[in-house]
Amino acid sequence: MEHCRHIGVISLFPDMLRTIFETSILGRAESKGLVRFHYWNLRDFGTGSYHSVDDYPFGGGGGMIMKPEPISEALDRSMNDLAGHGKIGPRLIYPSPQGRVFHQKIARTWADEERPLLFLCGHYEGIDQRILDCYAIEEWSMGDYVLSGGELPCASMVDAVVRLVPGVLSNDSATMNETFENSRFDYPQYTRPRVFRGHEVPPVLLSGDHEAIRRYREDVSRRKQQSVRPDLSGNPTEVSC
Ligand code: SAM
Repeated sequence: MEHCRHIGVISLFPDMLRTIFETSILGRAESKGLVRFHYWNLRDFGTGSYHSVDDYPFGGGGGMIMKPEPISEALDRSMNDLAGHGKIGPRLIYPSPQGRVFHQKIARTWADEERPLLFLCGHYEGIDQRILDCYAIEEWSMGDYVLSGGELPCASMVDAVVRLVPGVLSNDSATMNETFENSRFDYPQYTRPRVFRGHEVPPVLLSGDHEAIRRYREDVSRRKQQSVRPDLSGNPTEVSC
């Protein structure tokens, strides 16, 4: 029996994530007992009669900042709730444009850990800096652009991790040939029909010669990768997790 991975999210819009996590491969992973998702609505930890979660920035400037008290209450509650679900406490992740850029190697590291993942999804102009100072929280970015909230980056990271958890995909070994594994691109794929709008499937794929097929695929994927992403060649960037 595979170990069940526990993944928690603290969000102002947990239903947005619930919809994604209940669909397709992620939903099936949870039905199979390989993953369990946990949700905390940050609004439940808001202050005052309006359950306020944001306030104006000290020092001026535009926008609102997520207040520290609701976040710390939500973090303390969720870490406590997740405490029994791993050998060590959860890995805390704050999706942030100021974090290190998330990539496949990180997804594999997190998938291999028997440790819950706990995501804190930001909004407005971000969270009070003291949360980052007080908690061992990692900032991970989806890329060099600014989104309006942390839910979409959280969903992307969770999807990338969960499909690598053993047993989630029907053919686990298929992920070993995918793009970014070994700094490479996946090879082009073809299915029936053999001719589509006058374009034929490369004859080598119909030859039955496994060595020739392997060489063909390696050559085509290498040429595309070198043309589109030459930065992937050589040693993959080492990023500590
Ligand atoms: N004022 C912040 C800045 O310039 O760094 C941007 C805040 S953004 C509008 C609101 C939230 O969206 C962030 O707190 C973060 O959780 C999330 N977010 C935005 N862009 C992101 C990215 N590229 N990667 C991960 N999370 C991102």
